[in-house]
Amino acid sequence: MEQPVAATNKNLINLNCPSCGGENTQKLSSIHDAGTSHGTTQSVGFVGGRGGGNGFGGMTSSSGTTFSQTSLAKKLAPPKKKMTAKIIFLGVVVTLGTLWTVVIPFIAIPASIYFYRKNKAFNTIEYPKLMEPWLKQYYCHRCENVFIPG
Ligand SMILES: [Zn+2]
Repeated sequence: MEQPVAATNKNLINLNCPSCGGENTQKLSSIHDAGTSHGTTQSVGFVGGRGGGNGFGGMTSSSGTTFSQTSLAKKLAPPKKKMTAKIIFLGVVVTLGTLWTVVIPFIAIPASIYFYRKNKAFNTIEYPKLMEPWLKQYYCHRCENVFIPG
């Protein structure tokens, strides 16, 4: 007696789309991972020339990160965390850039600390609440329905 694989899986958890009954459903997190790629680029160049009999030249280098995402991965992206430590850095940068004034640093530092605390609270309390259902959600490739299999 042979039992089809689909029927066996069905007994464990029904992953079919509740909207259209489609079987072509996929976990949001796996669509997102598959459609997202990160990488780094590095390029080194040489610029040189001759001016007035004296040679001059120099090395140039640039590096950066590349990030690409399919539109489906973008559409089904997980909830995003808010800035924490980076906001302090921004506050410091703003402060250093505006030392000629007295007022702005006094605003920028408390403001960055305020947003640091606010966002930190979001990331520790609200973010897991958003992330938890997202990790359970599936996407139906047939009718674009997003659902939690039950
Ligand atoms: Zn569907």
